Amino acid sequence: MKTELKQYTVAELCDGFVYNELEEKGLYGLSGRLTIQPEYQRNYLYAEDNGKKEVAVIESVLKQYPLGLLYFNRLPDGRLEVLDGQQRITSLGRFLTDKFSVMSNELPYRFHALPKDQQTIIENATLLVYECEGTESEIKQWFQTINIVGIPLNAQEELNAVYSGPFVTKARSVFSNSRNANVQKWSAYVRGSVKRQEFLNTALNWVSHDQVEEYMQAHRHDTNIDELQSHFNDVIAWVESVFADCYNEMCGLKWGQLFDEYHNTPYDPKEMTAKAAQLMDDPYVKNRKGIFEYLLGGEKDTRLLDVRVFDDSTKRRVYRRQTEEAKRRGISNCPLCAMGHEARRTKIWTEKEMDADHVEAWSKGGATSEENCQMLCLTHNRAKGNK
Ligand SMILES: [Zn+2]
Repeated sequence: MKTELKQYTVAELCDGFVYNELEEKGLYGLSGRLTIQPEYQRNYLYAEDNGKKEVAVIESVLKQYPLGLLYFNRLPDGRLEVLDGQQRITSLGRFLTDKFSVMSNELPYRFHALPKDQQTIIENATLLVYECEGTESEIKQWFQTINIVGIPLNAQEELNAVYSGPFVTKARSVFSNSRNANVQKWSAYVRGSVKRQEFLNTALNWVSHDQVEEYMQAHRHDTNIDELQSHFNDVIAWVESVFADCYNEMCGLKWGQLFDEYHNTPYDPKEMTAKAAQLMDDPYVKNRKGIFEYLLGGEKDTRLLDVRVFDDSTKRRVYRRQTEEAKRRGISNCPLCAMGHEARRTKIWTEKEMDADHVEAWSKGGATSEENCQMLCLTHNRAKGNK
């Protein structure tokens, strides 16, 4: 790979700058010779957080601080692509085209409202650029390792870079687009940020059954994302059809996996919705995120709910009471052993050899209270298994 160090002024870099509001990215510079956001680049993030970062870029330039190195990739036809520095160039371009203001003497100024001498400082500020030329894989590998600016790439952003192509471009236009009206609806079930590719990552995860990289590799040159999109929509529509009410606890669950496992099971949505509401209100349920999988699975696996267990002092009191009575009657202090016919029939277990059990199972409405607590030997406790 060949590299060459060059110097450009801000005015040169931002000549011909266009900001695409719809896709939230800066497009071109250097009179059209530079592509600021090639398809493997990320969305523009510096405008987030009230634009703190993009304002900071302009303030640095006004104070004549260096902005750090930029990295461009030189294509065989002589055109250039930004490998690193996209966020900084977009900040500069957006400011030069009056997209935001900076404070000066406690007043906000857009670029063209600034005093001429300050405009000149910005336009003439120079940036150092490494221009490199190499094979696609060399460049992409390098792009993954430089990663030098403030916001490191996450795993999906890296995959987008590595498997860039028509598929990624199209997928991003749907799943990485905060102007997509569906995003709000999706965010009830999908956690994360659209711009950081977390919706795209979820959609890929669902369709590929957790084999995101393999899927991207296989579909890299596809010109449509039909399967990705329709699978994602199917999963969301399925959740909405089973549970009519939406809870915060539903956000970020492994809906893709639950869909794979249960979408062929018939459910009565009215009943599922009512049961979910009831469990959400149940003070014994410690893990409310587990409610949906518990219901979909036919209410068998109570571990998903992490039902509140008996505390130590309750267990001790019940152990003492049971043991005293057992000794008086000459039977085992495990009520199930006492009913049997083996030697254990009269065995007095130590407290450590026993554990608490719900007399009436929690799942059948039994409370986690002292009146509903009995101590069983560990063998019987495990055999009963319903805590
Ligand atoms: Zn027993």
